Amino acid sequence: MILIDTHCHLDFPDFDQERDAVIERAKDSGVAYIINIGSSVEGSKSSVGLAKKNPIIYATVGVHPHYAKDCKGKVPGELKVLAGEKKVVAIGEVGLDYYRNLSPKDLQKRLFIDFIRLAKENNLPLVIHTREAHADTLKILKDEFANEPIKGVMHCFSADEEYLKECLEMGLHISFTCNITFKNAKRLRALASKVPIERLLLETDAPFLAPQNFRGKRNEPSYLTYLVEELSRIYALSAEDIARITTHNAKRLFGLPLEEESRIVYPIRESLYINITNRCTNKCNFCVRNSTDFVKGHNLKLDKEPSADEIMRAVKDPSKYREIVFCGYGEPTLRLDVVKEVAGKLKKKGLSVRMVTNGEGNLIHKRSIAGELKGLIDKVSVSLNVDTREQFDKVCKSEFGPGGFDKVKEFIKECKDAGIKVEVTFLDLPGVDLKRCKRIAEEELKVDFRLRRYNVVG
Ligand code: SF4
Ligand SMILES: [Zn+2]
Ligand SMILES: [Zn+2]
Repeated sequence: MILIDTHCHLDFPDFDQERDAVIERAKDSGVAYIINIGSSVEGSKSSVGLAKKNPIIYATVGVHPHYAKDCKGKVPGELKVLAGEKKVVAIGEVGLDYYRNLSPKDLQKRLFIDFIRLAKENNLPLVIHTREAHADTLKILKDEFANEPIKGVMHCFSADEEYLKECLEMGLHISFTCNITFKNAKRLRALASKVPIERLLLETDAPFLAPQNFRGKRNEPSYLTYLVEELSRIYALSAEDIARITTHNAKRLFGLPLEEESRIVYPIRESLYINITNRCTNKCNFCVRNSTDFVKGHNLKLDKEPSADEIMRAVKDPSKYREIVFCGYGEPTLRLDVVKEVAGKLKKKGLSVRMVTNGEGNLIHKRSIAGELKGLIDKVSVSLNVDTREQFDKVCKSEFGPGGFDKVKEFIKECKDAGIKVEVTFLDLPGVDLKRCKRIAEEELKVDFRLRRYNVVG
């Protein structure tokens, strides 16, 4: 498990007695990087100092709104210089805090705006702190992002769903601390479940907010594992999945070095997926391939299509998985022979095999292929996505031209008749009548219906 603590204050005196030991414990728990957050002029200097000394630490430069009056609402010159240091990966934590109101609101706002401009000048993301100041924070971000939006994270998120929506629309990431493990944090856990996992980051905010088991004590980066456990329950993913996805998100946002090789096989939850091709006969409007090479933190961009032997070597020991799925980042039936060969080998090992397909295998091979899959594929998940021919042509843009909707339905029927279990999946796209979709699946085709959320893959 590889983790990144994206918000931590190891420069605080709470760690003076055993800073090195805390860093070692973090490493032992799988923490690959710690981003130490500057929260004052001195704190920013210490953060950069810690980063220089320690390979796993990166730093940010910022002044917490509490200290806005000390800088008279302006970014101090020495921080402007420090922002250019090599291991400085963000500007923060900066923002507004009207809860304790330790600096006048006017100075807090001016300083926040000045820091946003510094982030833009240095092409760095923002780490935003906001407490009891949501409306003003949003207004400043909207004004400052109007001509030139930048990336950032809303740290220690604790506002409501409406505010979350606004933050996500601005393209911000969201991070939760170990306080979501508190017994009474039901509201926060419900809120966390609303964050698309591609925007989620982990943070401890240590020394603050230790997890439930250590509540009231000093927090430290090694306790990230408790946060990961809680999030794996919230998202119904494995701890490994949460770690990999959030690590990828943090790496991308903060530009951290981390090898991410392309994957022929990749686990999600208890399934192992096989990435057999990046080609597809559709050009769906909503395809994840239009925007990223990554699915749930796995790099799926193949350098070359793997042979059956290469796939079997990558599969290694498949017995620990509930099912093996041909899926990936393209249409598996384009490589029907390889699917059949690999599926045959997996079936011999007694494994459950599923194929996710766009249902155009008959069109690709100019013959009915369902019979060839019998005995090799236990289940097919066919993406029909929509409920009318017109929508199908508009949304899926098959290279075989109009009429694909009926051809895919034909394939579904043939698979069912061949004794293969079939589920047909639809998307909650605008304009799609989900009741009609359910009727198509269950009454017309007599197969299982599954709804997929638009933009959620894997
Ligand atoms: S069928 Fe799947 S892989 Fe092909 S374009 Fe559509 S969403 Fe992408
Ligand atoms: Zn904060
Ligand atoms: Zn903090």
